[in-house]
Amino acid sequence: MTPDLAILGAGPAGSTLAALLSQRGFKVLVFDDEKRPELLVGESLVPATVPVMRRLGIEDRVAKYSQHKPGVTFLHREGSRIDFNFAPIARSLPTYAYNIPRPEFDDTLRERAEELGAVFVKHRAVVEPGTDGREIQLSAGSLAAAKLSAHPAFLIDATGRARTFARALGIGAQGGERADVAYFAHFEAFEHDFECPGQVVISILDNGWCWRIPLPGRLSVGIVLHKDIAKTYGDTPEARLDHALRTEPLLRDHSRDARRVTPVMTYTNYQLVSERGYGPGWAACGDSFGFVDPMLSPGLFMALESARLFDEHVFSSGTAVLGQPDTLHAGFERAEAELHDWHESWRELIRHFYDGGIFSLYETGTNFSKKFKGWPGIKFMENHMGKHIASMASGSFTRRKYSRGLVRFMRQYMLRDCRMPEEFAVRP
Ligand SMILES: Cc1cc2nc3c(=O)[nH]c(=O)nc-3n(C[C@H](O)[C@H](O)[C@H](O)COP(=O)(O)OP(=O)(O)OC[C@H]3O[C@@H](n4cnc5c(N)ncnc54)[C@H](O)[C@@H]3O)c2cc1C
Repeated sequence: MTPDLAILGAGPAGSTLAALLSQRGFKVLVFDDEKRPELLVGESLVPATVPVMRRLGIEDRVAKYSQHKPGVTFLHREGSRIDFNFAPIARSLPTYAYNIPRPEFDDTLRERAEELGAVFVKHRAVVEPGTDGREIQLSAGSLAAAKLSAHPAFLIDATGRARTFARALGIGAQGGERADVAYFAHFEAFEHDFECPGQVVISILDNGWCWRIPLPGRLSVGIVLHKDIAKTYGDTPEARLDHALRTEPLLRDHSRDARRVTPVMTYTNYQLVSERGYGPGWAACGDSFGFVDPMLSPGLFMALESARLFDEHVFSSGTAVLGQPDTLHAGFERAEAELHDWHESWRELIRHFYDGGIFSLYETGTNFSKKFKGWPGIKFMENHMGKHIASMASGSFTRRKYSRGLVRFMRQYMLRDCRMPEEFAVRP
């Protein structure tokens, strides 16, 4: 075939876009190097991912190998505990999400894209500066690997953190505030005694924080801490993860009998947004455009959402748009503006967790409810705050001006009878 469009990378962003555009009748070719490791981060989803699964008709397949996720519990070294349940969130979304074995999830998306007509080629695509009005193009070797006699009209970079196009074009990026590193692995017999089996647990530790994500038959455990502190934990990723499990008070009792059943993977670099995400003949989707700190698990949602935004704002009128540079430009401008708003909104919400504000607010609310038990309005306010924060973390109210303003206002003017945010902040 002569594709209308070639996508580089068959992660969640690339395969979702391939499936959505194939549904619209585009001829899509996807290059993937198939270098995916067996163990991949991105195992905990937010409810806002479910509508895209439904649109692609894959929710049943995903549910079969995944763990139902009812919410997230935050435990703090200072003894606080906050349970967020997705049940009271805005009605526009399902009240649950999934914890997914990542390789299976990526395979399902790819399988669906293939069913809808997308063609996948096993090849690590190479790009070079473009000619004929394109800013970037596939190398002769990559065209040959896909047996293409003509260059596709459009290229999508979905190569994740490799940011293949941005690197080739020298496009800069805005980084995050932290210099953290993550070590993670899968465990068996790690005690996870929470009432709801799929509840994800985030613990704010003496140093950094830790995730516990229940998957069928095992628990994914990752620690995230400053890279300089990590060095003091041991010489290898295994030693560093092991040290945290043995010494952190919130982990050591639960991990006493735990058996690690995978190698330990390392991830660095936490936040990044490209200065530019599209140009003549190309656009970047998913992590290749930008990624958010993973504390609230927004990464896969952002990958799926960027594919959805491209589909809606750029390609919904069909293949004719590929011959209309001005319409393409306007569509990507809209999509990119929404993506920036998503990034900014997630960053703001996640900052409330990192700097301790959410824990102070929660303590204020709990003390208030005890002190004024039975007063009219108290229960309403408690439920109202809970609903808005859970809805923001679910991906439904994340960008809502009212919800964001409510949290800011409460933090600024309503903290009473509580420990201040600095006491709850993630160190360093
Ligand atoms: C520590 C940590 C924890 C995280 N936890 C979560 C979580 O719990 N929940 C969540 O939703 N997200 C999480 N994320 C984020 C999530 O993993 C990513 O946002 C998501 O994988 C992005 O998907 P993507 O398709 O953009 O990129 P990727 O998943 O990186 O896919 C890119 C694909 O492109 C391929 N590729 C690369 N270069 C080429 C090339 N030149 N040619 C062909 N193919 C190529 C790669 O092999 C890969 O298959 C976490 C991230 C980190 C760092």
